[in-house]
Amino acid sequence: MNIALITGASRGIGASIAAHAAQRGMGVVVTYNSHLAGAETVVADIQAKGGKAVALALDVGQVASFAGFRETLTKVLQTTWGRSSFDALVNNAGYGTFNPIETVTEAEFDGLFNVHLKGPFFLTQALLPLLADGGQIVNMTSATTRVATPGCAPYAAFKGGLEVLTRYMAKEFGARGIRANSIAPGAIRTDMTSGAFDQSPEFETLLASQTALGRIGAPDDVGRVIADLLLAGSGWVNAQNIEVAGGYSI
Ligand code: NDP
Repeated sequence: MNIALITGASRGIGASIAAHAAQRGMGVVVTYNSHLAGAETVVADIQAKGGKAVALALDVGQVASFAGFRETLTKVLQTTWGRSSFDALVNNAGYGTFNPIETVTEAEFDGLFNVHLKGPFFLTQALLPLLADGGQIVNMTSATTRVATPGCAPYAAFKGGLEVLTRYMAKEFGARGIRANSIAPGAIRTDMTSGAFDQSPEFETLLASQTALGRIGAPDDVGRVIADLLLAGSGWVNAQNIEVAGGYSI
């Protein structure tokens, strides 16, 4: 059984990736930060459908915790699947803020940097020994790297960094047959964005009107694409940034 580890899979897009990966026959390790109950629900839903999943705690902003996380993961892979490796790392965990450059604080900047660029870099480094040869990495970026969206500057800049990092991962890990791609969603209604959309319905209407398919996205619009990417059949797709945004701002 192929095994995928998906960070930030207690809700939103990550939970959808986990569900769709399990539907396609993969074993799933879901990580959560603050929302254990959400992760337990994701795991229970997968198990109820006959799949195999485990939830582990992980704060992607805490690089010092990654060695301990690797030890825990090693044990879980062995006890749950009888494996010493896993096949796909999905660096999905993240959060957003809306703040113009003029008022972004250093703490806000550092927090976004830690979770969206430094975390995926060092988590990948820490887990690389456990990632099977021929495996893959999917990094979650954002359409805000292409379309400048006021209020998202640090977030988008770090997502842009992650896009570049993805190509470096593909280059450096290719000798082991490990491929790396990034997925860039447009606006998706999740806990990360629903506050802004509920507060300002005209913002959602504007984004929908800028999208060729006439609406913003739902988590499954992205989750099923990533689950498909995790399948062996997509094995020649490598070092790409794939926008999954319904034709946003074209
Ligand atoms: P949600 O708020 O629905 O879910 C965020 C997930 O990330 C949760 O599982 C949360 O864990 C986890 N998380 C947040 N901070 C940390 C942290 N420090 N360490 C570990 N896990 C953390 O967001 P989305 O599903 O919308 O976002 C998922 C990814 O998609 C993010 O990288 C986001 O930037 C990206 N994205 C989202 C878009 C959108 O419009 N929604 C558009 C483009 C990209 P917990 O629940 O346990 O706190």
